Amino acid sequence: MIIVLKEQPEQQQLHNLTEWLHGMGLEIHTSEGKHSTILGLVGDTSRVDIDLIQALDIVASVKRIQEPYKSANRKFHPLDTVIKVGDTSIGGDVFAKIAGPCSVENEDQIIAIAAEVKEAGATMLRGGAFKPRTSPYAFQGMGGEGIDLLLKAKKATGLPIVSEVMDLSQLDLFADVDVIQVGARNMQNFQLLKELGKSNKPILLKRGLSATISELLMSAEYIMAGGNENVILCERGIRTFETATRNTLDISAIPVLKELSHLPIVIDPSHSAGIARFVPTLTMAAVAAGADGIMIEVHNDPSKALCDGPQSIKPGAFKVISKNIDTLRETLKTLD
Ligand code: PEP
Ligand code: MN
Repeated sequence: MIIVLKEQPEQQQLHNLTEWLHGMGLEIHTSEGKHSTILGLVGDTSRVDIDLIQALDIVASVKRIQEPYKSANRKFHPLDTVIKVGDTSIGGDVFAKIAGPCSVENEDQIIAIAAEVKEAGATMLRGGAFKPRTSPYAFQGMGGEGIDLLLKAKKATGLPIVSEVMDLSQLDLFADVDVIQVGARNMQNFQLLKELGKSNKPILLKRGLSATISELLMSAEYIMAGGNENVILCERGIRTFETATRNTLDISAIPVLKELSHLPIVIDPSHSAGIARFVPTLTMAAVAAGADGIMIEVHNDPSKALCDGPQSIKPGAFKVISKNIDTLRETLKTLD
C-alpha cells in the first residue's frame, strides 16, 4: 500500500498515523520529495482500512498494491484448488455438472429428475428447499421437508446434493447436505458467511446481483478466514442496463477470477439468461472460457414448475448439453 501525504503534513497527525501502522506490524518506507512525501507500507496490509487513511487531513491519496484478500488469492496459492464433494470433486481437471430443479416440489418430482440428470451425466443434484423469492406471496420452498426429499434423491441416485441456506437458523437442517449454497442475495450476509467459515462443508458462493468481482472474493475471504477453505465461486449473471435477458452473464469473470484466485468457478447459465433456449449457448461459452463447472436448472415439466420454469430445461436437453460439454472440453485440449 502506498500513502501519498499532502504538502507539509501536520506532524502530530503524521506521528499518530505511523505509530498506528507500526502497531499493525507494518514497516514504513518513507520517500520525501520536493512537494510530497510517500509512505510505502511493507507487510500484510489486508487488515488496513484504506477508507480510514484516505479520510485523514494529512493524506492526499492511498493506493493498494496488494489485494485485500489473502486466502482466496492465487498469489499465495498458485495451484488450482480441488474440492472434494462426496465421491466426486470440482476444480483442477474435474468439471462439475450440477443439475436439478430450481426448487424441490414433491418426492416424485425430485427423485425422477435426479435419476434423469444422473443418467445424462450430472455429477451433483441441485434443488432449493428454501427459496429467496422477490414476492412474499410466491412459493417459498418446502423447507426442511424439501431437504429430506433431496436426501432421499441422494440415496436413490448416489448424487451429492447442493441446496441453498437462506438464514443461520436453518443451518442445522443442512448437516447431510453436501454443498451449501449461498444465494446471490446473501453474498454479503457476513454473519452467515462467518458461520459457514466454521464448518468444513463445501460452500457454493454466488455472486451478488450488483457485486464486483473483488466483492465476491472478499465474501469468499470471510468464509476462508474462519478456516473453511472449501469455497466454490459461482457467476450467475449480474444486473446491467440490458433487459433482454434476466441478468447479464459476465463471461469475463471466468478468466479474471482464474487469474486472481485459485478457487473453482461454476457458471449458472439458467439464472443468467432467465430463458431456457439460451442456456445451451451460454453453457458452451462458459466451458470455452475455462469454467470448472456449470449449474443448470432442469425440470421434467417446466411449464408447471413452481419456480423459474421459463429458464428450466428438460432432462433430454440437459443430456445433449452434457455430451456437448465433454466434446468441447476434449476439443479445447487440442488448442494452443
Ligand atoms: C438458485 O440457485 O435457486 C437461486 C435462487 O439463485 P440466485 O441466488 O443466483 O438468484
Ligand atoms: Mn431458480
